[in-house]
Amino acid sequence: MDKAPKKTFETRAVHAGERMPAGEYFPVSTPIWPTVGYSYESMAEMDAVFAGERRGYVYLRYANPTVNAFEQAVASLEGGEAAQAYASGMAAIHAALLAAGAQVGATIVAALDLYGATYSLLRQLFQHLGVQVHMVDATNLQIVAATLQETHPTLLFVETISNPLLKIAETSALADLAHGCGAALLVDNTFASPYLFRPLEHGADYAVHSVTKYLSGHGDVLAGVVVTSAANQQILFEMNKLVGSVLGPFEAWLALRGLKTLPLRMRQQCQNAQRIAEWLCGHPRVARVNYPGLPEHPQHELARRLFGDRGFGGVLSFEIAGADKNTAYRFMDALELCLPATTLGDIYTLVLHPSTSSHRSLTPEERSRVGITDGLVRLSAGIEAVEDILADLEKALGQI
Ligand SMILES: *Cc1c(COP(=O)(O)O)cnc(C)c1O
Repeated sequence: MDKAPKKTFETRAVHAGERMPAGEYFPVSTPIWPTVGYSYESMAEMDAVFAGERRGYVYLRYANPTVNAFEQAVASLEGGEAAQAYASGMAAIHAALLAAGAQVGATIVAALDLYGATYSLLRQLFQHLGVQVHMVDATNLQIVAATLQETHPTLLFVETISNPLLKIAETSALADLAHGCGAALLVDNTFASPYLFRPLEHGADYAVHSVTKYLSGHGDVLAGVVVTSAANQQILFEMNKLVGSVLGPFEAWLALRGLKTLPLRMRQQCQNAQRIAEWLCGHPRVARVNYPGLPEHPQHELARRLFGDRGFGGVLSFEIAGADKNTAYRFMDALELCLPATTLGDIYTLVLHPSTSSHRSLTPEERSRVGITDGLVRLSAGIEAVEDILADLEKALGQI
């Protein structure tokens, strides 16, 4: 291996120190492997890896050790057989939809209040490609059952906790209904995270995540993942070799590092969100608070049944009494600790105005059908001390 010193300076600049033989040791934490290619002792070995007869890596678009470590960790936490990582949550959702049979002539039934970009992905891209899309209130099992029987879809798509009105999907009942009609159930589990709920253990066929949010948890990486059966993951893997929507090793490393503190962060975020929701309920400038942890939430009992005593998630939303867009903006501008930002699920407490950001691409009619008003503010609780968050909210509500 150590032939480098005999070569020219230019050649040594390229090759010296590379491909050191692996020793009899294992690094305690997974290194970042930013290599595109791999070399083997012989062409015969490389050939065996290509043929799938020997474990190994050949090219970064196919697989990478750092990305694999992240995929294994998420599969374990979600209670699934295997996982496939992607460059973003939207890429993961797109891939899961294709793998579950979204193609010309197929029908999809989906929850009305899906994440804005997912809604547009279905309504714009997939519908234009010849897929029929039906949106339903996924909290109404009778309507879901009737729609499934009428439309014979290839898949049903819901979110465990929806955004920004925090509705809860009754996954096992939905899985039974979907499977009864021969449809697969896809669940976007981003808001709950496997700390609160694991859809595959309740009959879902695919659990998808925007890893960008709770799983990575620090607001510094864009990533997605699909967790499913080993057979489905093989389909996703072969498809992504061609599509190339891969997660890079640096991002996979950040996501894997973030994952380690998921339970600690979620515990604090659920506690903070609960306190903030209860506090907002008693504030005279607040007309309404949406949070599954409040007894008046229409699905409070269901949430308790699904999440046990682990909490009700880190996201809540509330309507400022009589507020239009400008009042909501004034409130958000007056905050000092809570940051207006177009994301959620990380360590910072973040606020967002859904009607002009996450749900901006919907028409005003679509927004009002979903129940998103101009006075609605979404809050994603961070891990700060809750007294400081409440003091910030108090001051900003006093200034509008
Ligand atoms: C953010 C988000 C997505 C999209 O994920 P990206 O990582 O931004 O591509 C999908 N679903 C939900 C519920 C989200 O919050």
